[in-house]
Amino acid sequence: MPVPQQFSRVLALDKSWRPTYVCSWQVAFSLIAKGKAKEEHVYDATVRTGSSELYIPAVIVLNKDVKWRRNKKRFSAHAVYERDGNTCQYCGQVFPESKLTQDHVIPACRGGKRTWDNIVAACLKCNQRKGPRTPAEAGMTVLNWPCPPKMGSFAIAHSIGNPPAEWLPYLPASEVNSDATSNMIDFGADAPDMD
Ligand SMILES: [Zn+2]
Repeated sequence: MPVPQQFSRVLALDKSWRPTYVCSWQVAFSLIAKGKAKEEHVYDATVRTGSSELYIPAVIVLNKDVKWRRNKKRFSAHAVYERDGNTCQYCGQVFPESKLTQDHVIPACRGGKRTWDNIVAACLKCNQRKGPRTPAEAGMTVLNWPCPPKMGSFAIAHSIGNPPAEWLPYLPASEVNSDATSNMIDFGADAPDMD
């Protein structure tokens, strides 16, 4: 019997109870069976595996801390758009990836590099308007000055989306009350080591 969508995601906390990743109930059961995690909270729903009927885990706690490493995320256009929430960093509008471009804040012709701290998502219109000029020269404001993404925050915020009620006590308040644009858990500048 398939598990209904709303019970299909499991929030994994690390040993220090930091939200670490979201996995499927199958992965969660496997981690528990291997002694790598314990069940912390279950959904009010069961699933039949073999001869037994088990409550579906909503939240599990891993038995180790996840190490956080700096800036491991690989630079790519997709990663830039993801960091910027698919939002043009000049006009503030959200676009599908296909309508976004990468803008060199400091233009390449002025020595601006294609790096995390010089590339932002920009819509075609804003990119064209800015041209090979600095934001100041173009009379434009960069909404969020670019920097390497906080990978842990990113990965988890991305996958949390609409958190089930069962997760709420385990999420930082900022995450629960956030809207789409500030949908980040701030773990500091460190990224997780997922092994
Ligand atoms: Zn724009």
